[in-house]
Amino acid sequence: MAEEIQKFDVVVVGAGPAGMTAALYASRANLSVALLERGIPGGELVNTADVENYPGFKNVQGPDLANEMYEGAMQFGVVHEFGTVTTVTPNEGAHLLETDMGKTYQAKAIIIATGSVHRKLGVPGEDKYSGRGVSYCAVCDGAFFRDKDLRVIGGGDSAVEEGTYLTQFGKNVNIVHRRDELRAQKILQDRAMSNDKVDFTWDTVVKEIKGDDMKVTGLAVENVKTGEITDVDTDGVFIYVGLIPNTEAFADLNITDEEGWVITDEDMQTNIPGIFAIGDVRQKKLRQISTAVGDGAIGGQEAFNYIETLND
Ligand code: NAP
Repeated sequence: MAEEIQKFDVVVVGAGPAGMTAALYASRANLSVALLERGIPGGELVNTADVENYPGFKNVQGPDLANEMYEGAMQFGVVHEFGTVTTVTPNEGAHLLETDMGKTYQAKAIIIATGSVHRKLGVPGEDKYSGRGVSYCAVCDGAFFRDKDLRVIGGGDSAVEEGTYLTQFGKNVNIVHRRDELRAQKILQDRAMSNDKVDFTWDTVVKEIKGDDMKVTGLAVENVKTGEITDVDTDGVFIYVGLIPNTEAFADLNITDEEGWVITDEDMQTNIPGIFAIGDVRQKKLRQISTAVGDGAIGGQEAFNYIETLND
């Protein structure tokens, strides 16, 4: 027998900082709210060590902050549901969502807070050695690389911040960047540059990740200015070359830009009435915990305002 459709005022998809905040605001406004998540609540916070740019905390561990946010989000009766959304069928006032758990939810408003995943380099050896020397998460895997030679790929906030974090484990950390100028915030650059264990390889891209079939042993890299390709030794490669939005399930809704980021107005409303998007998944400039939380507050409140109009 087909399972009954579960009905909520609001279904929030994704329990990162944005989604947890939206769930808090919507439930505190007396709406029935499901918070749908496919993994551990917390989003990227769970993979973040020190957070020192979230107001109210000089320094807080990402997983600790995630836990506090989750406790806060759940206090007004939010229902935590597990699963990955596979299909969304818009229908004003009664949108439908289906998940890979075989469940169907009906919601007056949907709030998309699915964030993003780390982009892959797309070079030979990357998939083969993933988990065997190739990593996308310094906090998760750093401790496996004590006294090892490490390479970090990328030049943004993540590469530079996580590269510096890795110095507590690795013998040295070489940051390989495709240009001769970092994209990362100045404070993160200064910290990395003044760390004796960090050095840089500029104007260089990775052509291949090499190994001995068991684990990573090195990289083939190309200097983009000279075209010269060389082999370098390394024990571990941490890849931080940007983000890809988690919007596969919403691809047919025509609410994203050409890269897949969801386009909203300043009320977090997409072009489909009652479907909102918040946090990193949204087309925006500054992807931070604080901006995600701000989006979440607006999204939760605007979902309430929208549902009020349905009752008019
Ligand atoms: P990002 O800002 O998009 O930076 C990606 C980096 O990877 C860039 O330096 C880019 O080079 C390089 N890159 C892209 N594709 C590449 C390729 N195929 N091969 C080699 N290099 C490539 O991504 P992110 O560092 O992951 O940060 C994502 C977002 O989170 C940003 O908004 C960031 O500000 C935020 N964040 C904030 C903090 C913090 O506030 N403490 C920490 C982490 C992340 P180019 O520079 O040449 O484009």
